[in-house]
Amino acid sequence: MKRETVVVLDFGGQYNQLIARRVRECNVYCEIYSYKTDFEKIKALQPKGIIFTGGPNSCYEPGAPTYTKEIFELGVPILGICYGSQLMMHLLGGKVEKAPVREYGKIEVTTDRTSDLFADVSEKTICWMSHNDYISQMAPGFRTIAYTDNCPYAAMENTEKKLYATQFHPEVLHTQEGQKMLSNFVFRVCGCAGDWKMDSFVEQSIRQIREKVGDGKVLCALSGGVDSSVAAVLLSKAVGNQLTCVFVDHGLLRKNEGDEVEAVFGPDGPYDLNFIRVNAQERFYSKLAGVTEPEKKRKIIGEEFIRVFEEEAKKIGAVDFLVQGTIYPDVVESGVGGESTVIKSHHNVGGLPDYVDFKEIIEPLRDLFKDEVRKAGLELGIPDYLVFRQPFPGPGLGIRIIGAITPEKVQMVQDADAIWREEIAAAGWDKKVNQYFAALTNMQSVGVMGDERTYDYAIALRAVTTTDFMTAESAEIPWEIIGKTTSRIVNEVKHINRVLYDCTGKPPATIEFE
Ligand code: GLN
Repeated sequence: MKRETVVVLDFGGQYNQLIARRVRECNVYCEIYSYKTDFEKIKALQPKGIIFTGGPNSCYEPGAPTYTKEIFELGVPILGICYGSQLMMHLLGGKVEKAPVREYGKIEVTTDRTSDLFADVSEKTICWMSHNDYISQMAPGFRTIAYTDNCPYAAMENTEKKLYATQFHPEVLHTQEGQKMLSNFVFRVCGCAGDWKMDSFVEQSIRQIREKVGDGKVLCALSGGVDSSVAAVLLSKAVGNQLTCVFVDHGLLRKNEGDEVEAVFGPDGPYDLNFIRVNAQERFYSKLAGVTEPEKKRKIIGEEFIRVFEEEAKKIGAVDFLVQGTIYPDVVESGVGGESTVIKSHHNVGGLPDYVDFKEIIEPLRDLFKDEVRKAGLELGIPDYLVFRQPFPGPGLGIRIIGAITPEKVQMVQDADAIWREEIAAAGWDKKVNQYFAALTNMQSVGVMGDERTYDYAIALRAVTTTDFMTAESAEIPWEIIGKTTSRIVNEVKHINRVLYDCTGKPPATIEFE
């Protein structure tokens, strides 16, 4: 069975993943590809529709991202957004130039509701714009279907060729009826059926995994986080006791987390997994000794992880497959799909060593966004408290300790983090923020304790709100909670004499520290 796919062709826009998520909210599967992807490859995907993203460049400048004009002859509907709309016009004979008035922010757009794109959309609707260039002349064969005071061609269509273009960004929430427009494109223009649903994903995955694995043995890397837990339970439903789950305690877990994971997935828990816990703390600490560069730390942790698995696999006997809980944003952010620059390598993707001692890696969640992973988890009957756990990075506390890692620093950050989480939960703020943790800065400063000079570390507290973890805001935690946490940390955790609160959003910071 061929699943319906809409392709997002990425021209370096910030919102590539957002577009894909919006399409998936229509229950239509969607994948992101860089504009550098071969036309033949895109064609082979037999997409039901293609969406061109925005992008930072000016399409009329030499060297700006472009695509072969042949794509417009495929007969597949195309929606160009912002840069994508400008490029479409530019390539098809219209004119794009620097706009006399740049538009940024929420702007009232007047739409022509006879267009399929604007069916059931209000005539005057607020859309979000972010452009310096504008289309001063449409390509032949197009008609204008939306305008603003400063932008005569805010949206265009060529129904015969099924080409659509919007200068504004329907994918961002500020465009009030954006989801309606995208769903109009997906259903009315592309004619999608919308049968990409979580129950069918789970069912289909189980079937595919069974087919692939046959009677082979499977080893699953279980970290206790949401992604690997969902992957493990999915695998256990598919291949039962052919699966062995290895949980590596790399010594960079939150306080008591190793025991908590064992309580749920171990022999006394509700799941039928061959669960093995490996206490590999010492190995990781010695590999990491003196290493300060974040990317290097990530790579070392990722690599050592795989090595531990290989060794475990050898003890178990022949193992054919290794399961990893890689999810779609990991893939895109690692620069594999899409056109976004590498922000940081992900534990599961960029950190993978060249030589892996297994026949194949299975990544059953590779196509899913986080909220979809959670839906799959619920579908699989995993309890809420596990499914809605806050995210914890694969390299763990290794990237919440700035600079070199030592067992003492791990203990400091574990203890401080446990206090912060306790206080946040006690105040009922755990449901109001999406991620919160403590990180150990590499800063030492002078303090005074019991009349004595100290020269100790500063802990940074972080708490953010976010819907998709792509962007985030620092949470306005009441001073009381921060104050209480601060005094507990400096009193209870040795070698911490200063507590800082991180007020930065993402961007410009990231949620994690390294
Ligand atoms: N760089 C183009 C412009 O300024 C497109 C911007 C965008 O895609 N958001 O108009």
